[in-house]
Amino acid sequence: MKKKTCRTMDELATVLSRFGVADDPDWIAVVLFVRNLLTRLSIYSDEKKAEIQREVLDEMSKGDLSPARLDEVTAMLDMYIMQTIGALELEDALTQEKRSAVQLVNEMDAIIDSMQGHGERQNRKLDAFKEHTVGVIRSGKNRSFIVSKVREMFQELIIEFKEEARELEERARMLEHSANFDPLLTELHNRRALDAYVQASVLGLRKDNRGALCLMMIDVDHFKRVNDTYGHQAGDDVLHALARIINAHAIQFHGFAARYGGEELVVVAKNMSLHEAELKAEAIRLDVERYDFRVRTQGRLDDHPVQFTVSIGVAQWQPGWDAGTLLSAADTAMYDAKSRGRNRVISHRKSS
Ligand code: GH3
Ligand code: MG
Ligand code: MG
Repeated sequence: MKKKTCRTMDELATVLSRFGVADDPDWIAVVLFVRNLLTRLSIYSDEKKAEIQREVLDEMSKGDLSPARLDEVTAMLDMYIMQTIGALELEDALTQEKRSAVQLVNEMDAIIDSMQGHGERQNRKLDAFKEHTVGVIRSGKNRSFIVSKVREMFQELIIEFKEEARELEERARMLEHSANFDPLLTELHNRRALDAYVQASVLGLRKDNRGALCLMMIDVDHFKRVNDTYGHQAGDDVLHALARIINAHAIQFHGFAARYGGEELVVVAKNMSLHEAELKAEAIRLDVERYDFRVRTQGRLDDHPVQFTVSIGVAQWQPGWDAGTLLSAADTAMYDAKSRGRNRVISHRKSS
């Protein structure tokens, strides 16, 4: 008996890793059901069990483990359960279930214990699932009761694990977000993500030997004055407003908006001519100039707007350039804009 349980657990682990679902609670629940719980329930003939297993494992081996496919597989299991009701002799099945209950309980124990460790809530749910299943099997009221109860519990388990999976996904998404986005200007990518993006884009251009890539370097004019006059918090608020303006523009032309450093922001535009990029940069400059920014003191907005402007340097990638060359060309153009009086757009070609 012990030997058999071990083998079942080994098989389970093999199945889980073979289909690459060792970490996916929804699919673990499906495998748990078809490989173990289902095979132990004598409400199915051996032939039927084999058929269900084959169908489900075939589906899984296709490699599509999307939520949509999970729904299909769950619906398939559901259909089998529905089909089975009324197909076998009730009393017979019940007696068999009762006889195998102790064995079933022990095996369920071992299998479910082997699945623990994914999280406290999941463990609690698995324990509850085990207890209920065992309870239902032991109660042995009648077969249709067992079937509907197990089905109900299986669905509950799937829903619970889906919720857990959704939360994990959300956490992963947030972690990914904090790894790639700026902590202060949350709508903008951070320097790390920017470097990776520019490098990948430049590599793509070199490989295809065609296409266009433009980069805008945007720096707030006399930003120290904003900080000195209104305080650091007002300075941060100005940056927030600027990030929103730039992001709104970038979204329109599928640009990549990032924070390069303190008050220096960057927009990367793929498949865009230098002339077009100059026009987009000019539109950003004008929107910033016209923006009606108000300092907020103790929750109240100031009556008078604070003007702020930006200088923008634009550069287009040239054959032979790497990511660093492109960034410094835009930076040089931006400093050129500063020396020519600020609040303007200067492109690298024009300045050199
Ligand atoms: P210029 O027109 O030449 O760019 O003048 P500037 O005053 O903007 O000069 P510079 O770009 O050299 O200085 C940037 C200042 O921005 C320095 C720093 O105190 C401020 N700064 C940088 N990051 C932040 C930030 O996250 N929040 C705030 N409030 N200020 C920042
Ligand atoms: Mg600066
Ligand atoms: Mg500045």
